[in-house]
Amino acid sequence: MDEFIKQALDIVKAQASVRTMTEDEIASMVKKISLSIKEISAGSFVESIPEEAPSDIDPKKAIREKSILCLECQKTFKVLTKKHLATHGLTPEEYRSKYGYKKNTPLIAKGLSRDRRKKMQEMQLWKKKTKKV
Ligand SMILES: [Zn+2]
Repeated sequence: MDEFIKQALDIVKAQASVRTMTEDEIASMVKKISLSIKEISAGSFVESIPEEAPSDIDPKKAIREKSILCLECQKTFKVLTKKHLATHGLTPEEYRSKYGYKKNTPLIAKGLSRDRRKKMQEMQLWKKKTKKV
């Protein structure tokens, strides 16, 4: 017998001993559980669990006032460029999801991103002004 079904059967047997189950219920439960066990041992479940960063550096602390730390190679930059991330085989999106950053987290030093935002705001103000005139 399939090892996965055997394991599933044990689980279902335990379930059946605490509550009344119809044959159909038991059959579909065995099927469902054996499938999950199979998936878990195949590693597909394990992969979806976010891996911990290989270093003990908190990704939140990697983005600092004047620099940003690359969590892949632990080098510091002002801007973590697409080109640099490519050397680790990652896109900025993959990098963000790997280390649990939000999708729109700018991969640049905090101070820089603030400056940039300020400039953007100034530009927008300027746009508004010119629109009104
Ligand atoms: Zn790096």
